[in-house]
Amino acid sequence: MGVSVASLGFPRIGLRRELKTALESYWSGRSELDALLSTASTLRRVNWTSQKEHGADIVPSNDFSLYDHVLDISAMLGAVPEAYGWKGGTVDPVTYFAMARGSQGCCAHGVTAGEMTKWFDTNYHYLVPDLTADQTFRLSTTKVVDEYREAKALGFQTRPVLLGPVTYLLLAKIRGDQEVSPLGLLERVLPVYQQVLEQLVAEGADWVQFDEPGLALDLDDAARAAFRTAYATLTAAVPSIKIMLTPYFGALDDNLDTALSLPVHGLHLDLVRAPEQLADVLGKVRPELLLSLGVVDGRNVWRADLSRLLNGLEPIFRARGNLVLAPSCSLLHVPIDLARETDLDPEIGQWLAFAVQKIAELRTLATALEQGRDAVRDVLEASDRAASLRRSSPRIHDLAVQTRLMAVTPEQSCRNAPFARRRDEQQAWLDLPLFPTTTIGSFPQTPEIRAARAANARGELPEADYTAFLREQTSKAVRWQEEVGLDALVHGEFERNDMVQYFGEQLSGFVFTKHAWVQSYGSRYVRPPIIFGDVSRPHPMTVEWWRYAQSLTERPMKGMLTGPVTILNWSFVRDDQPRAATCRQIALAIRDEVQDLEAAGAAMIQIDEAALREGLPLRRRDWKTYLDWAVESFRLTASGVADRTQIHTHMCYSEFNDIIVAIAAMDADVISIETARSKMELLDAFVQDAYPAEIGPGVYDIHSPRVPTVEEMVALLRAARERLEDRQIWVNPDCGLKTRKWPEVEPAIANMVEAARLLRAEA
Ligand code: GLN
Ligand code: ZN
Repeated sequence: MGVSVASLGFPRIGLRRELKTALESYWSGRSELDALLSTASTLRRVNWTSQKEHGADIVPSNDFSLYDHVLDISAMLGAVPEAYGWKGGTVDPVTYFAMARGSQGCCAHGVTAGEMTKWFDTNYHYLVPDLTADQTFRLSTTKVVDEYREAKALGFQTRPVLLGPVTYLLLAKIRGDQEVSPLGLLERVLPVYQQVLEQLVAEGADWVQFDEPGLALDLDDAARAAFRTAYATLTAAVPSIKIMLTPYFGALDDNLDTALSLPVHGLHLDLVRAPEQLADVLGKVRPELLLSLGVVDGRNVWRADLSRLLNGLEPIFRARGNLVLAPSCSLLHVPIDLARETDLDPEIGQWLAFAVQKIAELRTLATALEQGRDAVRDVLEASDRAASLRRSSPRIHDLAVQTRLMAVTPEQSCRNAPFARRRDEQQAWLDLPLFPTTTIGSFPQTPEIRAARAANARGELPEADYTAFLREQTSKAVRWQEEVGLDALVHGEFERNDMVQYFGEQLSGFVFTKHAWVQSYGSRYVRPPIIFGDVSRPHPMTVEWWRYAQSLTERPMKGMLTGPVTILNWSFVRDDQPRAATCRQIALAIRDEVQDLEAAGAAMIQIDEAALREGLPLRRRDWKTYLDWAVESFRLTASGVADRTQIHTHMCYSEFNDIIVAIAAMDADVISIETARSKMELLDAFVQDAYPAEIGPGVYDIHSPRVPTVEEMVALLRAARERLEDRQIWVNPDCGLKTRKWPEVEPAIANMVEAARLLRAEA
């Protein structure tokens, strides 16, 4: 009886990004595997220790991953696609990283990496399990047990966490057959999970956490039945281990009865995303089911209002006597420790809590429940003070922004002429060839550029020298683009640290951290800005760089902006007003920039909405509301220009079938998308009637160091021609090239330009 504090998962990257350093050094051959594994082991020890120290009673193991926790399960199951040449046995690191990143291979071809996509509605990416209809599974790693044992040897009794079998399969794809449901493989997957559970029992584990965020999705009866089969089978087969079933990211809703009927010992609830489900659950739950209440936001950085939470928790504790308190989801999505942010504006700092602070908040709540509020009076008072200051702070509320927003008219979100008329004007002005070639914006952020930026930030490289250096980089990139024969040029984004941060730093209402990294995928981490107040643009942000770049060439130079929905979705967003309102504020700020670029002479302006799709609510019935305000925000940003000005947009990782109407409603003149890894299948959505405008389907997978051949890209473009009209097609990479190296980019883009030339000859 009592209250325990549980952590469902902790950031893997290390307070000083140790994992990134170790991975990249291993990948580049600068260090041995042992060094990587030893860093990983140190990180796990530090994480367990720190979670305990901050007050967690239950700490997870196997939440760590060298690359991705979904890939870890594929490896555990031995689900390695044939192309990787794996011979069976244990999935070794070379195979594991080849699945994650592709490999150049010994012969000319190499193997491409697996497909990556967003983890639910987060900015974390996982490797999509790539299965076949007759897939077999065999336990092929010892990771789960190894990490449990490792913790135990250090004195930590952990609750191992695994991505549950049903969500794993819901996220999987059956190669070559979209129609076959991967859930058909459940019976084959379960024995491997069972074996892992048996091994854990043998090692002394008493609880295990099964993450099943799939329960927060729209499911059909077959999927619900799969949950029943899976948990009936596992609990019957291994009765001595207790399962904490852990759905998160939303309400259980119409899956609630299914979840409550499963023969598990505990059920977690995400009460940040879906507080309203609590009453329903309390009314229906069997008394012996242990509830884990996810009351502290695992997806955002705001400090919890502890007294308010206690008001809700006290009666539940009195009624049930036995509770687990937890973050709403794994803390993977928040930075590690606010204490590192010593330079943060203190007024804003007091409104925040990162991973370890969130665990401490849960400890305070648990203590208050068990011993009464007086036992933690000081902490509660500090929390009350922070909450009330945040409600009233003049730093947050800007009357001018609110007034301008209220005066927005519907006309401001409409271009003058429809696309067909705009296209003629644009073509007359731009005079582009068939299949015009371009890139998405950024060029390699070389060590030299990073060093210069760091030196400038430290005050060691004077502003004027830094600018001169960046101009030099820009001018080299412009010259190279002309030489290689691209049609629409970009300035290269050398001055940008990040496509959102660069804008956020120049807008009011944003604050930035120094160390608050979160994992995006593999060794790529981001430091999302924190939007704490009303947003406005004090001065132009990109016009000078565009002007300089355009002055170097006769060819069109694209203005390059990040769109409002993406800025919103890649930031930690204030939770004291609707997201839609924050998004519209950003839209007005970027609209000013679009108009300034046009006034400076830009004929093409790209407004990246890389993250539009990932903001989609998990439940379909919530889509329309989101898409309405997201599309309106984009249009508000893009529509203040003349018809002959060509508006581009770009989206990453997107699957468009189900939102093509909204994508078309954005009314951009050109959209570039990521299609290289999916072999143009994604293009099926863009049939003529649905999408009349121009499209650049990516032909170069920029997530892999591999250089694609001319033939490969021609083949992709031919596949595009089967689906689109010639006049619609642009030729470009999947995304920006900032993470690649010049020796990869130069031949790849040269091949791409050649592919476009060959295609023109075919047309
Ligand atoms: N313009 C950006 C770039 O090229 C777009 C990146 C993105 O969509 N993620 O880097
Ligand atoms: Zn992109």
